[in-house]
Amino acid sequence: MIKLENVTMQYKASSRPALKDLSFEIDKGEFAFLIGPSGSGKSTFFRLLLKEDRPTSGDIWLGEFHVNKLKAREVPKLRQSIGCVFQDFRLLQKKTVAENVAFALEVIGRPRSTIQRVVPEVLEYVGLEGKHDRMPNELSGGEMQRVAIARAIVNRPLVLLADEPTGNLDPETSEEIVDVLDRVNRRGTTVIMATHDRHIVDAMRRRVLEFDNGQLVRNDQQGVYGIG
Ligand code: ADP
Ligand code: ADP
Repeated sequence: MIKLENVTMQYKASSRPALKDLSFEIDKGEFAFLIGPSGSGKSTFFRLLLKEDRPTSGDIWLGEFHVNKLKAREVPKLRQSIGCVFQDFRLLQKKTVAENVAFALEVIGRPRSTIQRVVPEVLEYVGLEGKHDRMPNELSGGEMQRVAIARAIVNRPLVLLADEPTGNLDPETSEEIVDVLDRVNRRGTTVIMATHDRHIVDAMRRRVLEFDNGQLVRNDQQGVYGIG
């Protein structure tokens, strides 16, 4: 599903590469944690998958896409195959919960009838029934992240990238959010979650990819956070 082969990323402004000769694969349907200290290359990996940056060398595949060879006109199709969730939620503050999710469908030209059917379904799926007409600033952090997840999965992406999705949440809410991600994963979406949350990684026992200094230093099938 996702494959990196000898990927090196050297930012022009930087003296050392952000990713060094990185090779690994993530299979369809996996749930993988991406751990490692700040600056180890996790966000760079996400940016390369989204083709927001180009690797200096090496090859990247995602689903049917040979990402580093992709033509500019095919980049929107790649990005539609990837849902993204962030630590800071990134909701549209002037839109309601339902409008935030609907917007993700409007921008790709889905008909209004589809939007009216799908938005309530996905809001129920993430546990936001009854909150359709709330504004983001009326929600708790956990609810905001549920909206962000609903928006990210409503187009049924191949992959969901979650960049520290529990970084702003208390431990109990974090567990609830990871439960939602786990359910999304169990319905077939590959999930990659960058995190510093050792409790979550230890509780889930899923794939652990540990980056350090742009290199893969650990790749465990049912890993723990480790001693680091
Ligand atoms: P992480 O997400 O694990 O914190 P990053 O991928 O953000 O790591 O960063 C990896 C390395 O690349 C760091 O040394 C960082 O300073 C550098 N870096 C990230 N983005 C840029 C950029 N746009 N220009 C130059 N250097 C960058
Ligand atoms: P389950 O199999 O968990 O009962 P359903 O297949 O009945 O779930 O799905 C309920 C609704 O939730 C779907 O119609 C869809 O709108 C939404 N949904 C669930 N999972 C996803 C997903 N991964 N991507 C997009 N929408 C989803």
